[in-house]
Amino acid sequence: MLGFNALVTIALLYVAFLFGVAFAAERRAARGRDGWLRSPWIYTLSLSIYCTAWTFYGAVGYAARSGLEYLTIYLGPSLVMLGWWWLLRKLVRVGRAQRITSIADLISSRYGKSTLLGVIVTLLAVIGVTPYIALQLQSIAQSLDVFAGPEGAALGGSSVALWSAIGLALFTILFGTRNLDANERHHGIVMAIAVEAVVKLGALLAVGVFVVWDLGGGPAQMLARIDASPIAAWDQQSGRWIGFTLLSAAALLCLPRMFQVLVVENADEAHLGTASWAFPLYLALMSLFVVPIAVMGLERLPEGNPDMFVLTLPLDAGRDGLAAWAFLGGFSSAASMVMVATIALATMVSNHIVVPLWLYARSQGAVMSGDVRAMVLTSRRLSILGVLGLGYLYFRLSGGGAALASIGLVAFVGVVQVLPAMLGGLFWRGATRSGAAAGLVLGFAVWLWAMFLPSVGDGTAIPASVMAQGPFGLGWLRPQALFWTGGLDPVLHAAMWSLTLNAAAFVAVSLASFPGPVERLQGAQFVGVFDVSGGPGGWSRGAADAETLLVMAQRIIGAAEAQALFARAAAAQGRAGALPEVTPNFIRALERDLAGSVGAATAHAMIGQMTEGVSVTVEDLIAVADETAQIVEYSGRLEQKSAELERTAGALREANAKLTALSVQKDGFLSQVSHELRTPMTSIRAFAEILREGGLEPRDQARFAAIIGDEAGRLTRLLDDLLDLSVLEAGQGRIDLRRVRLGEVIDRAVAAALPDPGGLRLLRDPQAETVEIETDPDRLAQVFINLIANARKYCDTGRPELRILWHPELGAVDFIDNGPGIPADHGRVIFEKFSRLGDPGRAGGAGLGLAICREIMTRLGGAVRFLPGPGGATFRVELPRAVSPLAIDQPAAV
Ligand code: ADP
Repeated sequence: MLGFNALVTIALLYVAFLFGVAFAAERRAARGRDGWLRSPWIYTLSLSIYCTAWTFYGAVGYAARSGLEYLTIYLGPSLVMLGWWWLLRKLVRVGRAQRITSIADLISSRYGKSTLLGVIVTLLAVIGVTPYIALQLQSIAQSLDVFAGPEGAALGGSSVALWSAIGLALFTILFGTRNLDANERHHGIVMAIAVEAVVKLGALLAVGVFVVWDLGGGPAQMLARIDASPIAAWDQQSGRWIGFTLLSAAALLCLPRMFQVLVVENADEAHLGTASWAFPLYLALMSLFVVPIAVMGLERLPEGNPDMFVLTLPLDAGRDGLAAWAFLGGFSSAASMVMVATIALATMVSNHIVVPLWLYARSQGAVMSGDVRAMVLTSRRLSILGVLGLGYLYFRLSGGGAALASIGLVAFVGVVQVLPAMLGGLFWRGATRSGAAAGLVLGFAVWLWAMFLPSVGDGTAIPASVMAQGPFGLGWLRPQALFWTGGLDPVLHAAMWSLTLNAAAFVAVSLASFPGPVERLQGAQFVGVFDVSGGPGGWSRGAADAETLLVMAQRIIGAAEAQALFARAAAAQGRAGALPEVTPNFIRALERDLAGSVGAATAHAMIGQMTEGVSVTVEDLIAVADETAQIVEYSGRLEQKSAELERTAGALREANAKLTALSVQKDGFLSQVSHELRTPMTSIRAFAEILREGGLEPRDQARFAAIIGDEAGRLTRLLDDLLDLSVLEAGQGRIDLRRVRLGEVIDRAVAAALPDPGGLRLLRDPQAETVEIETDPDRLAQVFINLIANARKYCDTGRPELRILWHPELGAVDFIDNGPGIPADHGRVIFEKFSRLGDPGRAGGAGLGLAICREIMTRLGGAVRFLPGPGGATFRVELPRAVSPLAIDQPAAV
């Protein structure tokens, strides 16, 4: 017999092969060569995930227990595919037009993008599908168990299930969360599923052929055996037949994984045409040999588990290779179902629960797009782990004992609770969100109570006493006998009550409630999906469209302005109400207005997409609008910043220019100073040289020594001046304010500047000079000395004169000489350092005098300026204003 270890090795190799297939498909798709990946055959094969391990193993077990009833689980979907393809087409069309990502998204989107409905359907799907996933894990464990010798027994069923769950989670995360966009097809996974579809069909057919021809001795003999077997004898209950057929038909539409492959992964509506006959054919082939296998199993292995006949028959006959193939077929069925179901559920959990919670939690603060992307991917991955973890948990809790078929039915009844809301949403405009919520919640609750909780295990979730007498002794609430309908089959009982109450609540509440605007809009788009994308101009011409445009415009140009714009347009069209008819003129006007905010190109693209009915949802546009608003705000901030920067740069430029000018000044100053110092130094050195050589007349000696003395004096003066100036410029040096008579200061200055008054005649007004001023007399005297000395130096007329005049009304003293004067345009220059007019050498000054005067007067709070005019030079020394009134008030006699 085939060893357990060998089988595990084969399984691992098979999984590695699937990895390879998935990788290759992803790479092909990534390179854009996905031509045949999009073929209708791949699509049809991917639908085969309907056939899970339940179908693969369970159908035979079902047939062994209940005869032909197993056919109902194939019949339902086949009927839907063959007879209801228009319903499927509508689903696919809506799914693509609205970019639906899951069945929860479909319901939420249809009923006005309701968050609540999304959450309800997600919870329903997770709770409903969890047993189903557990079922697959169980079937893998059970099938391995069949092969388990002593080594396998040591491993144990639950650890096989655990390792399978971990492996499947890995595979799903690897290929199911490669890209964020749920609308992107998962080529790798779909391809792996297609391969698995072929493997499982091939396995079942091979086992069937083996059973009929090898064990059974040909079709004729086989038919005879079937006739003789107890299966043929069982009479079928028509109630169960109809019930189960309808249930499985509904499940095809409502199972999250079927919705995923049928709608979300659908690349082309036309594929439905092929699938509508090819998929029923696939199902027929899958069911072809179920009865022979069951009959032969019952005959040859009456003690064995009927669920495992597909495996045990070949094993029993020593056909190890066939048994291994059958095992791989069963494994494929389980794995493909788990992968797609997990992706579908994880997408729902992530989109409707985790991401909204996360966004809510950080609704303060801007959300960067990179942030969200990473977060959504992480949440998908965690959701995948969570969903598979739940499946494993259920497997452990339920003990893995119940027959496979009954667990599958629990899931079926759970997920078909979505049916009323879904069909109502597609065909009935009057269906409302409240109705859908009421129906879902009620159906969900009934299912939980009547089916799910009892299924977890006798007495586990619901005590045996409650099962028998109802909660608190309320007999009509007994889980399996609601409203005293005790004698029914439990599955039918639960399905009937949950769906009836669900649908009744849905219709009643829908009729009683009123849909909101977005709901109405979505309802119109869902129900009329074919009118919408078919007709020329699309749905844009409808009144509902004005609403959508308004929603978008509000996001872009602000609510008040948008509403005003729409109201104006409506008024211009002569319509009552706030919404205008969407005419080409109106669209052009709106586009113009939006262009002001988002730019012409974007506005045109947005309006174009909306009015041409391309499959862009309102949410897309709103997202674009939000983004634009953010960008506008951001660019506003940038502009502000750049203006600030420009200002700073301007200030820096100015400072730099000042620094450069200062540096030039400094260089000029230094060269001036060195020049000024060198001239006297040179002559001092030259005369000192001559004196040292000796042999001079004593008269010459004295003269040269005198020159040296003079030059040294000049140097000293120059250095004093420089020092003085630098102290003044640095704002240092003390200022001693004192009250003093003006005449006194002038007297001191005259004494210092004109030790021999012979040359220059002074004209003063002693009476006026008795005025008292408050100043630093030493500093002011220094200014006067400079001015008087200059007059003496530069007045070369025959009778040089200097008039000193006090202007009481101005608080200023004028120094007016009768010299050659100073050209008016030099009036400012002479106050600069080292500025000298005419022959520099002549008067012996360094050009610092007036500069020092200006600094002193600035420190004293006054000014000194040159007054241009005919005749000699006039300088005015203005004393600080605060002082002058005081001085003027003084009686002249004091
Ligand atoms: P300096 O040490 O050369 O006197 P100042 O700064 O005192 O330097 O004067 C600058 C220049 O202004 C002088 O070189 C001279 O050409 C001119 N100047 C100043 N005062 C008179 C004046 N009273 N008459 C004519 N020129 C004058």
